[in-house]
Amino acid sequence: MEQDRLPGKGSRAAQDVPYLEQLAKIRQVFPQPVSDRTHDAYFVISILRALDQIDAMKSQLPILGQPRQLDYEAARAARMPESMASIEEIAARLVATFHGLPIWSHPRAQVNVIAPPSIPSIIGALLPAIYNPNLVSDDSAFGVAVAEQEAVAIVASLVGMDPNKAAGWFTFGGTGTVLCGVKVGLEKAVPNAMEEGVGDRAVLIASEQSHYCRLNVAGWLGLGEKRVVLVPTNEANEMRVDQLESIASQAIQNGKRIAAILATLGTTDALGLDDLEAIVAVRDRLVERFGLDYRPHVHADAVVGWAWSVFNDYDFRTNPLGFRPRTVRALAGVCRRIARLGLADSIGVDFHKTGFAPYVSSLFLLRDQEDRRFLMRGRNEMPYLFQTGQHHPGKYTLETSRGAGGVLAAWANLHMFGKLGMRCLLGHLVEMAELLREHLEGHEATTVLNDQNFGTVTLFRVYPEGVDTWTIKQREQHDAGAQTLLEEYNEYNRRIFHYLYQRAMQGEGVLLSMTDCYRRSDFGLPIVALKSYILSPFIDAGHIEHLVETILEARRAIDWH
Ligand SMILES: *Cc1c(COP(=O)(O)O)cnc(C)c1O
Repeated sequence: MEQDRLPGKGSRAAQDVPYLEQLAKIRQVFPQPVSDRTHDAYFVISILRALDQIDAMKSQLPILGQPRQLDYEAARAARMPESMASIEEIAARLVATFHGLPIWSHPRAQVNVIAPPSIPSIIGALLPAIYNPNLVSDDSAFGVAVAEQEAVAIVASLVGMDPNKAAGWFTFGGTGTVLCGVKVGLEKAVPNAMEEGVGDRAVLIASEQSHYCRLNVAGWLGLGEKRVVLVPTNEANEMRVDQLESIASQAIQNGKRIAAILATLGTTDALGLDDLEAIVAVRDRLVERFGLDYRPHVHADAVVGWAWSVFNDYDFRTNPLGFRPRTVRALAGVCRRIARLGLADSIGVDFHKTGFAPYVSSLFLLRDQEDRRFLMRGRNEMPYLFQTGQHHPGKYTLETSRGAGGVLAAWANLHMFGKLGMRCLLGHLVEMAELLREHLEGHEATTVLNDQNFGTVTLFRVYPEGVDTWTIKQREQHDAGAQTLLEEYNEYNRRIFHYLYQRAMQGEGVLLSMTDCYRRSDFGLPIVALKSYILSPFIDAGHIEHLVETILEARRAIDWH
């Protein structure tokens, strides 16, 4: 008798068994495995409804809904509910979490290096959310594993690596790409670190302007944050290669082994571009001079700058796309450095920054696929995986399960934009950033700080009436007597920033960001800067003029002695 009461035997009506009644509802919250036209439509409409609700939160403001206070107190009171809710209820509550979020694609949101995702990249991220390919192996990813290799080949050839020799895979962010690069280098410098541990002789060399994730990487790899050696930068935010050579030589003479030299192309806040060719030459000289038994690994952190490689074979002389001369100069100025990316032993690329894809979409590329062996674990340690199929990234990736959203988002954009689309989009953003610089350089009250870098990001300072902006920048940086002024004007710029923020929340002006320390002065004081990061395809000259007007308005509105 009991046997007959088990589910699946078909003898119990669902209404007699409470859990079976719930199960019927539960089955409705999943997309149907076998096409059911009515339910398929219900699934699609549920997504459309959520999108509609979010669209209704758009206004003239560069944010969704209204600004609001974040309530973490209430969050701590959250508990798992006893009973089930409907798709509609949950969708509405999911939508509500987006209140107050900046709309990164809004031309009056110029906050940070956060990309507005394109529609194909959104579809690329959505489909795997439904069908869940796992890139640990092509056993579980099928054609998506091939798409990943296509993206690898496209980017490898774009940056000047041989796609037949290169290897690559997507990982958890730009930080993940730096981690992978340094890990490969660490294994070269400290053989068998994977089995034996790191010891205390390895150092990581990076520029002072490199991303702070160098600390996560050094800490989490067991190198230790204190083993990160920083090389000073010049005023273009580039690593001083002469200093690199002496610092690296010193380290080697002190018995250290170089886990990696981290070149940055370009820096997050200014698009400073290290001279990779010179850095690689230094590395080669070190190997010879000290007769090193390993080749220090050079990883290029190009998560922001890689996108400019679409201009590597653009004809700047005839300029067929018709950019303004100032833009041509800016693009060519970046390419001068970016065109050398193929010299790096490995690089990192973020599609969620300058590739217009949703988070997280980061590609790690090795120039020489043989280098994967440094990360390979023995096949026999993972007996239950990899029995079939031919491509098993899980043998060398840090991740086990690896989602495909980032991969297909990147793949979609590479194929959809093509070089033409990326050139026009990036070129336009640079054109707008250059227009902003023209205004800021032209006005007596403002100075551009990263005037030797040529990206879509502009760091600038605003000064009160009567300040000689011809000389103030140099004085703040180098003059001992100007350090009190520097601090005072830091405060002034903070106040300008807050004014601009208030205006943006009233639907006027532009949502910018502020960096508390763009660089340090020669005396160690932080230099505060306002930052305009232009990534919206919708920006036009009118928005730039509006921004400049609001800055001048802020200057009049602020009460300053
Ligand atoms: C953003 C950034 C990183 C970190 O990348 P995530 O994708 O945020 O992990 C590393 N390096 C540079 C230069 C960056 O701009």
